Amino acid sequence: METKLLPALAATPEGQEAEAILRACVHCGFCTATCPTYQLLRDELDGPRGRIYLIKQALEGGEVTEKTQLHLDRCLTCRSCETTCPSGVRYGRLVDIGRKFVEDRVGRSPTDAARRAALRRGLLSRPLFGAALRLGRIAKPFLPSGLGASIPERRDAGTWPAPRHARRVLVAQGCVQPSIAPNIDAATARVLDRAGVSAIRIDDGGGCCGALSQHLSEHDEAKALARRNIDAWWPHLERGAEAVVVTASGCGVMVREYDQLLAHDVDYAEKAGRVAAVARDPIELVTAEWPSLASLVDRQRASRRVAFQAPCTLQHGLKIRGQVERVLADAGLRLVPVADGHLCCGSAGTYSILQPDIAARLKADKLHNLQANRPDVIASANIGCMTHLQSGTPVPVRHWIELLDEMLAYPAQRPIPSRAARDEAPVA
Ligand code: SF4
Ligand code: SF4
Repeated sequence: METKLLPALAATPEGQEAEAILRACVHCGFCTATCPTYQLLRDELDGPRGRIYLIKQALEGGEVTEKTQLHLDRCLTCRSCETTCPSGVRYGRLVDIGRKFVEDRVGRSPTDAARRAALRRGLLSRPLFGAALRLGRIAKPFLPSGLGASIPERRDAGTWPAPRHARRVLVAQGCVQPSIAPNIDAATARVLDRAGVSAIRIDDGGGCCGALSQHLSEHDEAKALARRNIDAWWPHLERGAEAVVVTASGCGVMVREYDQLLAHDVDYAEKAGRVAAVARDPIELVTAEWPSLASLVDRQRASRRVAFQAPCTLQHGLKIRGQVERVLADAGLRLVPVADGHLCCGSAGTYSILQPDIAARLKADKLHNLQANRPDVIASANIGCMTHLQSGTPVPVRHWIELLDEMLAYPAQRPIPSRAARDEAPVA
């Protein structure tokens, strides 16, 4: 595609990146067929090709209005279009650049700006979010059913194995997941421990991966959060930790792209490159260690029917497809078919709050497909999708690593025999 960006913009790294992405697009429209918002709204400007055109027009100095902003806001950044595109157009990066440019031109109403600032403030602060969640759980019985259903139940984390192996990895803590579902990271640590890898939790330092800020066009804040994480993780990488494990695929794809985010930061570009190179979703480690882990699975615990929801950030962002399903099936779980698995569930970070109508329709469609074959449990790989989906179904929604954790035989967790049984046991 021919481009003629505004001269001032064309001289910036973001402008050059956007120009290269725009030039890769041949406007074929294949991506439109797999775009969830186009499928729902049937408007070319609510599909990837139309949005690319709007961004091109804006970056070339054409008219930019609130309508332009609305079409970009309605994009889920699910990146399904990237998977479909035969020309390798990096739409996710382009829409980040385009949104920021349009926001700088059009601005936000005071209400919208305040709502976005409150969301960032509330979600980026672990103590603030944790306190709000505790309050919400207390008030849940008195809230309207829709709002109450969106507040996740408390689940205990269980034990975190003490480091005992020469092989070590870091577990990135993130922002909201430790409050909502501390069991996910702990289950990851237990599974990896059984595979001969100790998982180290960093309680001080790191935090939000920056995705939330990035997608809300607060790019400087996203970069600052990435630098903070790199500073917290770096000493452990220097001491030999071999990977940064990110158990929420939404955060994982952000960390995997720290190299792009900080490519022009002279102090951090190199470190960001190394962090991005060692960022891992847990399925990548579990797949690598599966030959030893598979022998530890207690298949008597594997009778459940499971519907797997592959988060967009896992399949389109990290481009990991089929691995979780293979591991769960090999562990003996019965995976049921799920139609339209490539489509977003509508969670998409803060999207379900900022675009509630579209998000609710996508959630209803996703739950319909997930529940069509009567699963006992829905498995996912991203905390945002899990809480979004759980608010609409009584079927338990769990991270897949929790299911695997429950099926591994842990000698230390076997029930302690009763006093009488101990007294009767033969002395070795
Ligand atoms: S993004 Fe890719 S699939 Fe979509 S119109 Fe451009 S080249 Fe075609
Ligand atoms: S990221 Fe998702 S919602 Fe946005 S244009 Fe691409 S397919 Fe459509």
